[in-house]
Parts: sequence; structure tokens; C-alpha cells
Amino acid sequence: MSAKAYPGQEAIKEKGWLAAYKWLILRRASQLIILLLFLLGPWFGVWIVKGNLTSSLILDVVPLSDPFILLQSLIAGHVAASTAIIGAAIVMGVYLLLGGRVYCSFVCPMNFVTDVSRWIAKRFDLPKGWKPARETRLWILAAVMIAAFVTGVMAWEMLNPVTVLHRGLVYGLSYTWTVALAIFIFDMVVSRRGWCGHLCPMGAFYGLIGSVSLLRVSAKRRTACNDCMDCFAVCPEPHVITPALRGANTGTGPVILSGDCTNCGRCIDVCSKDVFEFDVRFNNAAPANEGRADTDAVSTDRHAA
Ligand code: SF4
Ligand code: SF4
Repeated sequence: MSAKAYPGQEAIKEKGWLAAYKWLILRRASQLIILLLFLLGPWFGVWIVKGNLTSSLILDVVPLSDPFILLQSLIAGHVAASTAIIGAAIVMGVYLLLGGRVYCSFVCPMNFVTDVSRWIAKRFDLPKGWKPARETRLWILAAVMIAAFVTGVMAWEMLNPVTVLHRGLVYGLSYTWTVALAIFIFDMVVSRRGWCGHLCPMGAFYGLIGSVSLLRVSAKRRTACNDCMDCFAVCPEPHVITPALRGANTGTGPVILSGDCTNCGRCIDVCSKDVFEFDVRFNNAAPANEGRADTDAVSTDRHAA
């Protein structure tokens, strides 16, 4: 069983199973708890949270709104209620602190679907398939906003797989499974990690927030890296790792600044050398005496999804 085929084996040996899966477990717990909070009302009449991921009210007091949806609504020409604006400001504030794509890794119900699809594809060594340009999701994001402006309605929300999946789960709609299955098969057969990695406009939107957010992953102890490549193998966006991990010889700081990083913490989990940790984006000075002996430029694609 090689560490490359099964990333994280060295970390399990060095740190123990729990430490090597800590952030993955926390992520799944977060996804499940958030979904359960939404289900408690419709299923058991316990209304801690009313609504869905688009717009909700916690304990009848705190409004939460998805800023991606609010933006579409405003561009479509709708007048936003003050609770929607306050709710979006709260959500924006949280993601500006914790990282925009924390939405993807800790909240979005589609993440579990695409993670399972990717896991199976890797285990069976299926072809990676079509690889759209990374900017594609930004173009789709622009198209979503243009569609709202032209049609005067939030046209994308009628199709948005994330919205459809979450509403379907909360309100028990049968076509939910069709949407989840379509993305699952698309990612497995047509384009590995294609939906979240290249196409989803919500991911693109939250990635833009993430490009200025405070909490970041830092390759703080990058001189300890033994080039096992396990972090690249598990990362859903492996291109974000290289500048921070390999930047010692170019004076680049150790913080992963790209908004594409989902702050999922899997690189922290699987690193047996404890290279990575959460930090703030401003702690990005490259230590003066850091210099690594090796100058290899390791391809991020070697173990990319
Ligand atoms: S990229 Fe889109 S579908 Fe994927 S986890 Fe993020 S919001 Fe959800
Ligand atoms: S760099 Fe680390 S935290 Fe960021 S997406 Fe990759 S595995 Fe997750």
C-alpha cells in the first residue's frame, strides 16, 4: 500500500488515525449538523432554523441570507428587504473571516456528493476526462449575473444544483436525487472534480470572497516537507499549494493566498511532517534564513484530482 495511492498513510503512522482525519471529520460533522438543523423544523417541528440555505432565520431572531443569491436578486431589479441585507452582511462577515470557500468545504451539501465521486474515481483509476479552463466558473458566474439582469428574475436559481439539492433535502422533493446523481456521474465520467473545481458559479463567487479573507492555511514549516506529495493528492484545488510550499527559494511567503483554497484542512490532516496549519493571511513573510536545499519545481498535476 503506497502512500501515493493511499495518501495520508504516513500521517496515520506518525500522528494517529484521529489526527490524520481531524479536519475531514469536522467537515463532515459540520455539513451534517447544518443539514440537520434545517431538517429539525419540517421533520420534527423543532424550529431552531427556518428556511433553507438561500435565506433563513435562526431562533426567529437572526436572519441569514446567501450573498450570492442576494446579488442576483438585486441585479434582477428586486428591492431587497432589510432582513435580507442584514442576513447577507452577517454571512459575508463570517466568510471574510473564515475563508470564502469554507462554504464549499463545511456547508454545501454538494461537497459530499463530489467528494465521494472523486474518491471512487481515484480508487478505480478512472480517466480524469474533460478539464475545462479554471476560469470557466468565473465566466459562468458572469453569465449568471447577466441572465438575472436581462430576464429580471434569478434565472440561475431555477437550475442551480446546490439550491435544488438543499431545497429538495429540506422539503423532501424526489427530483433532488436526480440532481445529485447527475453531478455525481458528471464528476466521475465526464470531468473529474469538474463541477466544483471548474464550473460551479457559487464556488467562483465564494472564491472571490476567499481571495481577501482572513483565515488561511500556511505551509509554515515547509522546510520540513519530504516531497511525499500527499497534500497534492488530497487537495481539491492542488494548484493553490505550490506557491506557498515551494516558495522558500523565491522569497514567496508560506500562506496559501488563493481564493480557490477551500480551507478544508485536508493538507493539514495528511501531512506527516506537520508542514501546514491555519494562520492569518498577514503572517506571510518568508523567513530570511529559510532557504531550502532543493530547487525542484514539483508539478501540481502529479497527483492532481
Ligand atoms: S463549488 Fe459549488 S457545488 Fe461545489 S461545494 Fe462549492 S458551492 Fe457547492
Ligand atoms: S490547500 Fe489544503 S486547505 Fe486548501 S483546499 Fe487544498 S487541502 Fe484544502
